[in-house]
Amino acid sequence: MFIELTDHLRCPADHEEQFLILLPDVVEDRWVRSGDLACPVCGRAFRITDGIFDLGDAVPLDAPPSMLGGDAVAALSGLGGPGGYLVLVGGAAANAVAVRENVAGVGLVAVNADPARPDGDGVSVIRGGMIPLRSSSMRGVVLGPGYADEPTWISEAVRVTLPGLRIVGEGAAPEREDLELLATARGCWVATRARSRYSP
Ligand SMILES: [Zn+2]
Repeated sequence: MFIELTDHLRCPADHEEQFLILLPDVVEDRWVRSGDLACPVCGRAFRITDGIFDLGDAVPLDAPPSMLGGDAVAALSGLGGPGGYLVLVGGAAANAVAVRENVAGVGLVAVNADPARPDGDGVSVIRGGMIPLRSSSMRGVVLGPGYADEPTWISEAVRVTLPGLRIVGEGAAPEREDLELLATARGCWVATRARSRYSP
């Protein structure tokens, strides 16, 4: 896990959103290989092992692999330049390295990747039943097959994405007030997180 991403981590517990305190054990070249994370509100503790932040409650989805290549993910997510982070969930994370080649200077976060760790370095790896990142902190989310059909995962994608930026899903296009659909084609949808005065 890229050490600067740890500033965006949040406790997954159902209390007011709260950051996690990192106590790193091993950091190599700004990448946390192992360490402890603790919540100052509820006291829950988590561990980064082999670079992976695992909440311990990931539920495997029986879903087909992603049909999107790295160049397609880059184009659909509409990132205009370097900086920030793009989150890839499930099958979308499998080709994270190919995505990285097309989004220079954008940090990548693989959530519930299959296989568990995308090939190569330069991708932060998280496993869990939600996206343990702060609200309105990411430049976009790509939901792989299965995840894009789950309302709870769509809600998580909307929550972590900055208002006005994009969420891409491989599945049936959702109809939600917090998403403005831009396009649907061949089992894939692209939407922006609606700007709302209720946004956190
Ligand atoms: Zn907590």
